[in-house]
Amino acid sequence: MNYLKDIGEDALIKKLIKGLGKGEDLVVGPGDDCAVIDVGDALRYQLLKTDCVVEGVHYLPETSAHKVGWKAIARVISDFAAMGGEPSQLLVTLVMPENQAVEYVEQLYRGMERCAAEFGATISGGETSSLPAGSSAVISISGTGWVNKNQLVRRDEGRPNEVILVTGKLGGSILEKHLSFTPRMKEARWLVENYPITSMMDLSDGVAKDLPRLANSSGCGYFINKEAVPCNMGCDISAALGDGEDYELLFTVPAEVLESLQEEWRGVFPTLRLTAIGELTSEGAGALSLGDGWEHFRS
Ligand SMILES: [Mg+2]
Repeated sequence: MNYLKDIGEDALIKKLIKGLGKGEDLVVGPGDDCAVIDVGDALRYQLLKTDCVVEGVHYLPETSAHKVGWKAIARVISDFAAMGGEPSQLLVTLVMPENQAVEYVEQLYRGMERCAAEFGATISGGETSSLPAGSSAVISISGTGWVNKNQLVRRDEGRPNEVILVTGKLGGSILEKHLSFTPRMKEARWLVENYPITSMMDLSDGVAKDLPRLANSSGCGYFINKEAVPCNMGCDISAALGDGEDYELLFTVPAEVLESLQEEWRGVFPTLRLTAIGELTSEGAGALSLGDGWEHFRS
C-alpha cells in the first residue's frame, strides 16, 4: 500500500484534482496560489484561498500565540499578493485541544487581527471545534480577495528566455522570519501596476521546490545562476534554495524590461533586494537539479 509520506504533496494533489469538474466561472483552478473566479464583474476577478497552520509542523507549542496568529493570516495575504491581487474577507477555523488556555486563543486572535488590519482584510466569521487534550492544534484560514483582470498574474504564463527574479534574501527562515514575515503585498502591487509580470508565486517551500512548479506550469525548463542567489546571513546555497517559508516573491519578466525594472525598484524599495537568479528555457533544456526543497508528507 502507498502512504502519503511515500508519494509527497505534489503527487497527492495531482491524484486528487484529476477528474474534478470545472465550472464555467472558474478561470484558474487548483495549482496556483489562489483560485480565480469570474463573478461577472467587468473589471475584477474574485480570488479564493484556503490555508492552514498546524502545531508541530508550522509552529511549536511554545511559540507565542500572537506570532502564530500573525503567521496564519500572513501566509494567506502572501498568496493573494502572488496573484497580483488583494485580500478582502477572511474566515477562521480553529481546531484546538480542550486543554488549551483561553488566553492563548485570545492572543492568537489578536495576532490574526493585527495582520488582517495591516493588509486591509476583514475577519468576517469562523468556526471552532475541540480535540482531545494533547492533540496538535490546527488553524485554517480561508478568504476571498480581488484582482483587476488586467493585473492577474498566474503561474503558467512564463515563456522561454524570460528572466526569473526573487525579492529579498533566502534561507534560514526557521530562526524567526517564518513567524514574523511581512507579505510582499506592496511590492507585488507595484510590480503588476508597472511591469509586464508574466508569472508569479510566493516562495513557501523553497526555490528548489517552487521554481520547478512555476516552470512546469508554464511548460518551461529553467536555468539558475547559483552564484546570484541572495542568501540570508549564515545560510549557504543549499539552505537558501531548500529551506522554505521565505514568503518572498518569485516571478518572471521579459528580458527587455529587466534593466529598467531593477533601476526603478532600487528607487521605490531601497531596502529590499531584487535579484535576477536565472531564466526560463524551452522545456527541459538547461534544467538543473536543485535538491529537494520542502515537501509536505515527505521527510
Ligand atoms: Mg503560494
